[in-house]
Amino acid sequence: MDKISVCPVCGNETTKDSLTGKYHCDKCKKTFKKAALCDKCGKEVEILAACGSTQFFCNHCNELKSKKTLEFFLKEQ
Ligand SMILES: [Zn+2]
Ligand SMILES: [Zn+2]
Repeated sequence: MDKISVCPVCGNETTKDSLTGKYHCDKCKKTFKKAALCDKCGKEVEILAACGSTQFFCNHCNELKSKKTLEFFLKEQ
């Protein structure tokens, strides 16, 4: 199971809304969005959706991050 699709509150599997890209937990009735943490400083990186591709930028380290190095989690809206 994909780690990101699990509700951080109750552990229930969330459903992804393909329109908004957000995740919804039926149990908690909460909506989450995908967020990522910088591997260096542990702070949340900014997710920049450019046309077709997604880029990740850490404001703290002031650098673009590779998707591979990031740790993804669901953040409550
Ligand atoms: Zn939940
Ligand atoms: Zn950083």
